[in-house]
Amino acid sequence: MKHAIPALQTTCYHRAVKSYESCPQTKYCDQDPPASRKPEHCGTKDPRLFIVVGPCSIHDPIAGYDYAQRLKNLADEVRDTLYLVMRVYFEKPRTSVGWKGFINDPRMDDSFHIEEGMEKARAFLLQVTELGLPAATEALDPIAPQYLGDLISWAAIGARTSESQTHREMASGLSTPVGFKNGTDGNIEVAINAVKSSAKPHSFLGINTKGRSSIVRTRGNAYGHIVLRGGERPNYDTVSISVTERALLDAKFAPNIVVDCSHSNSFKDHNMQALVMSDCVHQIREGNQSIVGLMVESNIEGGNQPIPDDLSKLKYGCSVTDPCIDWPTTDTIIRKARDILKDILAQRGK
Ligand code: PEP
Ligand code: MN
Repeated sequence: MKHAIPALQTTCYHRAVKSYESCPQTKYCDQDPPASRKPEHCGTKDPRLFIVVGPCSIHDPIAGYDYAQRLKNLADEVRDTLYLVMRVYFEKPRTSVGWKGFINDPRMDDSFHIEEGMEKARAFLLQVTELGLPAATEALDPIAPQYLGDLISWAAIGARTSESQTHREMASGLSTPVGFKNGTDGNIEVAINAVKSSAKPHSFLGINTKGRSSIVRTRGNAYGHIVLRGGERPNYDTVSISVTERALLDAKFAPNIVVDCSHSNSFKDHNMQALVMSDCVHQIREGNQSIVGLMVESNIEGGNQPIPDDLSKLKYGCSVTDPCIDWPTTDTIIRKARDILKDILAQRGK
């Protein structure tokens, strides 16, 4: 007896993958982005601290571009010390249910126009990279990177998927550095195992550049690292950082750490992000060698908002997922970090 396929409907997605030869990232982005340097060179090859900063999710490309322009101006002003990479997150992992992001449901009305979402996501990434601003994203769907990967400079594997073999395999074939988040409970072992796994070649089912189901064989990603995002309690303090350094060294990896100032490090209170960032900046000033990057959730307006039935009621430039700090706060804390670190980073490790 045959089993029915439990999908309601399938639709062919005819989009072929964009050619990497026409990659605007290499044309427009910084000559030597620290986000794509080898982790073992972090802090030596390019001493700047990189900061992945921007909205928890993009839902309105117009407000997103408004944000990108502000960030680009700031990035130019602090570029001697900091390397700013915009968070351009189109895919949202949900703890249970909720809007899964711009690619999945670009109209935010459960109509799930995924093809439109993918087209618009790509168009937005092109706009950002053409500004000369590198983009970071979370790689959640294992197929999506084939359609967007040439426009991405740094990718995260989220707290809910660091332990997933599918995501480790995908990361092993990404052409950007990948930051693996610790588990939602605070477990750093899953992220270290993810770095270990993704550094190796893998073979798995995926799609080729023509969008056809294929056997994919990867080389392994040598640029995996860990992102501390807190768990049952925050994990950006000096003791947690030291424990992580030791665990990375024991696993024979360079002790390079990115601290996510949001999520469980800020108890999801956006106002706490500035405190976490300031703490990390002071740790570096006091001699820390391992914090190579930070992540901040920031938007034009502070806080967040529920998605209303009437979308015309959406507040402009305000997150519909995690709460963010507003633009004036972002501008202030980044300039402050730059002022504190400007004479320190170049001396790091000497
Ligand atoms: C995020 O970066 O918005 C996110 C969902 O992060 P995490 O995987 O750490 O929860
Ligand atoms: Mn978030």
